[in-house]
Amino acid sequence: MALHRLIYLSYARPGLGYSDLRHIMDKSEVNNAQVGVTGMLCFGNNIFLQILEGNRKVVNQTYHRIARDERHHSPEIMDFSPIGARQFGEWSMKLVQLDDQVPATLRRLILKFSDFNSFAPEQMTPEQCFQFMKELYELLTLA
Ligand code: FAD
Repeated sequence: MALHRLIYLSYARPGLGYSDLRHIMDKSEVNNAQVGVTGMLCFGNNIFLQILEGNRKVVNQTYHRIARDERHHSPEIMDFSPIGARQFGEWSMKLVQLDDQVPATLRRLILKFSDFNSFAPEQMTPEQCFQFMKELYELLTLA
């Protein structure tokens, strides 16, 4: 089945902490590697922005499992489209935290695709979210 990319955002449960994020990532890396899903999970200002890429059916199943997770709420699918090739092939999942302490290079990247230099994906278009994460991936994998 054709490769697809899904982009969604959601809101963290109040009180979600670093150990919750660590557990989510440990589980994601293992589960995604088993089914050929790759992607990136950004977290800042209590908002998650995630890209999942892989087989359409598998990405669907993964998303629906994630959407039921009580560690976040109100998930909104921003985009679900066929793709020619993966963009995040190096990562079964990678967490990038984007709080107010991010380095200047990341702040500039946030500003490039937003109307302000604070992470606010709910104000961004799906294309801006994708380009933002694509450049973030390039920045982090070339570093
Ligand atoms: P288990 O880990 O055994 O979990 C069983 C059930 O308990 C699931 O319904 C799970 O949601 C829930 N659960 C487990 N721990 C907690 C907890 N501490 N608090 C509340 N509920 C809990 N999973 C992936 O496989 N790939 C991803 O890319 C991915 N991204 C995620 C992104 C976000 C923002 C969040 C919040 C979760 C993400 N997860 C991801 C985790 C996913 O929601 C499931 O928890 C996980 O896939 C279930 O793994 P499992 O079937 O081995 O069940």
